[in-house]
Amino acid sequence: MSENHVYPVSAELAEKSLLTNEQYLADYAASINDPEAFWGEKGKILDWIKPYTKVKNCSYDPGHISINWFEDGELNVSANCIDRHLASKGDQVAILWEGDSPDQDQSITYNELHKRVCQFSNALKAQDVQKGDVVCLYMPMTPEAAVAMLACTRIGAVHSIVFGGFSPEAIAGRIIDSKSKIVITADEGRRGGRPVPLKANVDEALEKEGTDCVEKVIVFKNTGGDVAWHEQRDLDWETITAPQSEQCEPTAMNAEDPLFILYTSGSTGTPKGVLHTTGGYLVYATMTFKYVFDYQEGDIYWCTADVGWITGHSYLVYGPLANGATTLLFEGVPTYPTTARMSEVVDKHNVTLLYTAPTAIRALMAKGDDAIKGTSRESLRILGSVGEPINPEAWEWYYDKIGNKSCPIVDTWWQTETGGILITPLPGATDLKPGSATRPFFGVQPALVDNEGVILEGAIEGNLVMLDSWPGQMRTLFNNHDRFEQTYFSTFKGMYTTGDGARRDEDGYYWITGRVDDVLNVSGHRMGTAEIESALVSHPKIAEAAVVGVPHEIKGQGIYAYVTLNSGEFSSPELYAEVKQWVRKEIGPIATPDILHWAEGLPKTRSGKIMRRILRKIATGESDQLGDTSTLADPSVVDQLIKENAEL
Ligand code: ATP
Ligand code: MG
Repeated sequence: MSENHVYPVSAELAEKSLLTNEQYLADYAASINDPEAFWGEKGKILDWIKPYTKVKNCSYDPGHISINWFEDGELNVSANCIDRHLASKGDQVAILWEGDSPDQDQSITYNELHKRVCQFSNALKAQDVQKGDVVCLYMPMTPEAAVAMLACTRIGAVHSIVFGGFSPEAIAGRIIDSKSKIVITADEGRRGGRPVPLKANVDEALEKEGTDCVEKVIVFKNTGGDVAWHEQRDLDWETITAPQSEQCEPTAMNAEDPLFILYTSGSTGTPKGVLHTTGGYLVYATMTFKYVFDYQEGDIYWCTADVGWITGHSYLVYGPLANGATTLLFEGVPTYPTTARMSEVVDKHNVTLLYTAPTAIRALMAKGDDAIKGTSRESLRILGSVGEPINPEAWEWYYDKIGNKSCPIVDTWWQTETGGILITPLPGATDLKPGSATRPFFGVQPALVDNEGVILEGAIEGNLVMLDSWPGQMRTLFNNHDRFEQTYFSTFKGMYTTGDGARRDEDGYYWITGRVDDVLNVSGHRMGTAEIESALVSHPKIAEAAVVGVPHEIKGQGIYAYVTLNSGEFSSPELYAEVKQWVRKEIGPIATPDILHWAEGLPKTRSGKIMRRILRKIATGESDQLGDTSTLADPSVVDQLIKENAEL
């Protein structure tokens, strides 16, 4: 299909970018041949309080998994994200905030950010928050979220952010697992014109058994909405912060001291409490931000992810700020109050670098040109995608419409566990193929293995693994090193298992085919979900699709496809036949769906990923065994699908 469709790097782009292909190839080879020397040098992208003398000390040996980078160095994350920029760019905007409502915004300079973070750090200290204590953040997308994160890092507290849309049960589960001592929240958040009851959810969470590790709840007054108040426990943000000193000495942290805990999205099962540490994580987030987005002075960078996701950690806050960039933080949703809001925000703030997710792109694409109505998007220079495989159809739309056919797209593959981007194009270096995450970042050694763990060579499909460590790799699952080893290092010995499948083409480009657990086996042919879904989405009337395998008497597994149509389109027996024929023509008879399920919506995680494990249960009539649904964005979608399935 579009595999042959290549978008080469133009001479002009190579010229004005940080890296050319020749430099990429040379540096990549150096990073693999001598990781010690490579990262020893690159670690200097940060300011160290005590320079490291050791660079890499990692073992993937069964029973002894241990990962250490820069292990005798000392540094502070907030000092790297703020203090070191003050002399040269104190008056530059660090955080550009755009409210849910288009008439609300704020510009916070590095000087101002420094003041706010220091004051809040002192306020936390006054509440006896000490180095190593876990602080749970359940925040709206306002600058205070970033201030709270940075303040934790300044005093060595470990943050555990819970996405502001999660339920009281989900909050309680994460508080208990991480043993949080403090919760930081707001009265309410705002999204798409509606208030989000943050404080009320925290109150409810803290009624649950096992949450008595929490001593205090700090509440930021955001909307001014009415909330219950527990005199013994609740503290008003402003009241405890305003009297504090505007200076707070950053705590020297060892490179391997814990930085944060973050739970995975739960697409494949119960969320895992991923632990990242200080030095390697920040080196890797800083390096990848710089080269993947080709960051240059004057750029206005916008990542649409919520702070509650790893993308919001590495590429909304830490990566951009460590580079001294201006990062835009958006409280709202891409389609409120108008379908073109995302493009409007780009124009309003002259955004040059835009990073978003396929789920958002597909939602906009389904609206057609309304998504860009009245906007020019001329400021844009580079586009990014993360979270799921981006279907070539959505890629082309993003490129043509949002990017005016002039911005390279970096399709970045990575995970909560990886801390930063592992497989990605680099703007001035990598010729693009829509749907491919292309090549590894420096120091990253991907490989494809068969189910026995044998490394496969050449153009082939297999299980995606990493052969060696990179600085941003997770160190353990919080308080559960056994599950860590079991989940990531036991399937294939001596390698990091990603859980994703991928194909490598003749140019060495990687194409993520989907979760290994989701792979279909139809008449002995193994097929990833991504390819069939992309074929479906390339049909002009289809907005979104998800396929799962169901038992089939003859073929072993049959293909059950959930299909959502573009707004204004309706299902019919003719369309049913046409869509089946379409996939047959796009991929081949083997990939023809057996069942099409016209769906009004698909079950997604709060970060926008399709939850195929739930779709599989619905397709096979086992809807009484849906598993962990705590991270589902809209549970009513599931009821609707069960109803539709019964009527098929
Ligand atoms: P859980 O591990 O709890 O099931 P999750 O895997 O959805 O949750 P994340 O760490 O947020 O949690 O997501 C990482 C996954 O997202 C990757 O393993 C991959 O499947 C998918 N992904 C992310 N970026 C891309 C991309 N550019 N192309 C293809 N897939 C991607
Ligand atoms: Mg995962």
